[in-house]
Amino acid sequence: MCYHFFVLDESDHEMTARILDGTKIRDEIFAELKHEIGRLAGEGIRPGLAAVLVGENPASQLYVKSKIAACEQLGIASWMHTPSATITTEQMLLLVDTLNSDNAVDGILIQLPLPPHVDTKRVLEAVDPAKDVDGFHPMSLGRLVSGRPGLVACTPAGCMEILSRNGIQIEGANAIVLGRSDIVGKPMVLLLMHANATVTICHSKTRDLADVVRRADIVVAAMGKAGYVQADWIRPGAAVIDVGTNKVTDTKEAESLLRNFPARLQKFRERGSALIGDVHPDAINTAGAVTPVPGGVGPMTITMLMSNTVKAARLRRSKAPANTSTVQSTAGAR
Ligand code: NAP
Repeated sequence: MCYHFFVLDESDHEMTARILDGTKIRDEIFAELKHEIGRLAGEGIRPGLAAVLVGENPASQLYVKSKIAACEQLGIASWMHTPSATITTEQMLLLVDTLNSDNAVDGILIQLPLPPHVDTKRVLEAVDPAKDVDGFHPMSLGRLVSGRPGLVACTPAGCMEILSRNGIQIEGANAIVLGRSDIVGKPMVLLLMHANATVTICHSKTRDLADVVRRADIVVAAMGKAGYVQADWIRPGAAVIDVGTNKVTDTKEAESLLRNFPARLQKFRERGSALIGDVHPDAINTAGAVTPVPGGVGPMTITMLMSNTVKAARLRRSKAPANTSTVQSTAGAR
């Protein structure tokens, strides 16, 4: 694949940014995965994902349902385990142990958050690293740090796919990551660094954030703060990957954020809420390229979970050499 960086001329800054459509990339990757799943079927292998959903958190139920639906769409086997919220850490460890030793299970997904009395770290660390399709195990993180093959956290891996499949040049670019969480910010920094970007990581104690953002060719925002990154912080022509998914319900806040988007504001009024990223929607007039919220990074997280499950099946069970895979992570660390 040939990479280009579509930096716009300063005089172009009034142009509307190119939309980096996550649903389109999801469809592309799903088509590639179907091909790979067909190839694995020829070896008698059907990739399988086991999801563990503890308790009755409605948001978690919705997420797990969408993940199982994606498995069904692709022909990946799936199992759902739904222990009650009273489950103990020891019982969770036993369940993980059973899934670790089941050869039909290639990926184990522990839907977070777990109830507060369950030791989340112990449970996540009990998952066999070969089946760690969420990429949360310290072994997976260690592999990512040292640039070795492994399973990479789904949301940052999805951001890399958005950048590379849109021909946005990462090598040599000044990239900034806003947020340093274990599941998004930190792995994102490592992926960009392995792809030869010059990376700055920012957090809640960073001084002069606007100035730091202004120097960036690539901005990845993962803060959890609706519309926090202002449009005039974005360097004209920069690529913006907005990971934030914030549900805004306050009318004044929505009116301020969506003042230039009458159709979206109308929808907010009908529904009483709107999904807003961490970057102000007006950035569409300054950035060169931008992921929409929703429809940008969101669809990529489940996509990369599917990709990791197929990859785990291939690495664990397939006799074919790794380079026969059609689905290539652009992460640098595979
Ligand atoms: P998190 O664990 O709450 O981390 C937020 C990070 O943002 C922290 O590192 C925090 O800094 C930093 N931050 C907060 N305020 C800041 C400020 N004013 N300036 C600079 N940095 C600031 O969140 P997360 O789990 O990484 O998620 C981030 C966002 O992405 C959320 O909106 C979440 O819903 C969304 N998300 C979306 C997907 C998806 O599939 N689309 C997946 C995962 C997450 P400190 O470390 O100093 O506190």
